[in-house]
Amino acid sequence: MQADRFQLTTIMAQQREIAELGNPVLRQKAKNVEDISETEIQELIDDLIITASEANGVGIAAPQISESLRIFIIAGVSSTRYPDVPELETKVIINPEIISTSDEMEKGWEGCLSIPGIRALVPRHKSVRTVYRDRNNNLVEECFSNFTARVFQHEYDHINGVVFLDRVENPREIITEKEYMKLVIQSHPSEEQE
Ligand SMILES: [Zn+2]
Repeated sequence: MQADRFQLTTIMAQQREIAELGNPVLRQKAKNVEDISETEIQELIDDLIITASEANGVGIAAPQISESLRIFIIAGVSSTRYPDVPELETKVIINPEIISTSDEMEKGWEGCLSIPGIRALVPRHKSVRTVYRDRNNNLVEECFSNFTARVFQHEYDHINGVVFLDRVENPREIITEKEYMKLVIQSHPSEEQE
């Protein structure tokens, strides 16, 4: 693993243990980050990038590594868990707000590093307009659509103590990863979602 590949800024980055469903930290509303330039915050960001990468996640939020702060990552590397997802630029999202959402909703498959072995169909807004701080404290306004909008909404839920199972409309649309791999990837490879 090369630090420059991940654009890490600290040397202490480490893979962190992922909190799983049942851990109260996943149900807390996370706090805003006051000073993004703090070393502890920059190290936390690097830990998130490394942990998402090692777990083959497309995103991870700070509460998932037991840090109740409003930070999440949309991972920038292609993932074996999501082989059809195009390579994305890694985005560090801090203190985000969703300004507006499309009326149009779309159901897609999601999984979560904190809920291993499970996939479910989750309705999400097809696009979201957001404002957030990046790791250099720049204010960024950005519109996300389709897959990245889904990841954004999934991770945004995490910093509000919400998990994707809370948004499932029909419990029959919750399946195991093994059955998901059989049903979805083999029969409709282009439909794989977050
Ligand atoms: Zn998740």
